[in-house]
Amino acid sequence: MAADAPTRPSPTVTDDSAVFWDAAAEGRLVAQRCAGCGRLRHPPRPMCPACSSLEVEIAELSGQGTLYSYAILHHPQHPAFEYPVIAALVDLEEGIRLLSCLTDVSKDDVRIGMPVHAHFVPTADGPLIPVFRPTEDS
Ligand SMILES: [Zn+2]
Repeated sequence: MAADAPTRPSPTVTDDSAVFWDAAAEGRLVAQRCAGCGRLRHPPRPMCPACSSLEVEIAELSGQGTLYSYAILHHPQHPAFEYPVIAALVDLEEGIRLLSCLTDVSKDDVRIGMPVHAHFVPTADGPLIPVFRPTEDS
């Protein structure tokens, strides 16, 4: 990417998602954990889908997971991204699924089930967001 290229757009932060993005800004990956039944959930939302509890805790996540599925995006192009973008659904080892991007891998080397781990990239207004790259020695 050219040095003067724009950086990717910053996330839209809501009351529910602020804890996720605040942690990401510190290079941490977190999820909501229901204080009633212990179930993890993502994306963040006010009520547990399992027990309807509104009580929530924050769980630190390892960032380790496997690639559940992916899509190679070619269009429409935005100057902040390098194409093709690899949109990825990642199953984290804690048992929840995140929509993100894969980086540091050729589209020809992407395989469903490959081990991946989170790292963080900056956005236009400064906050970091989590993306994933293949785990070495896999
Ligand atoms: Zn619950």
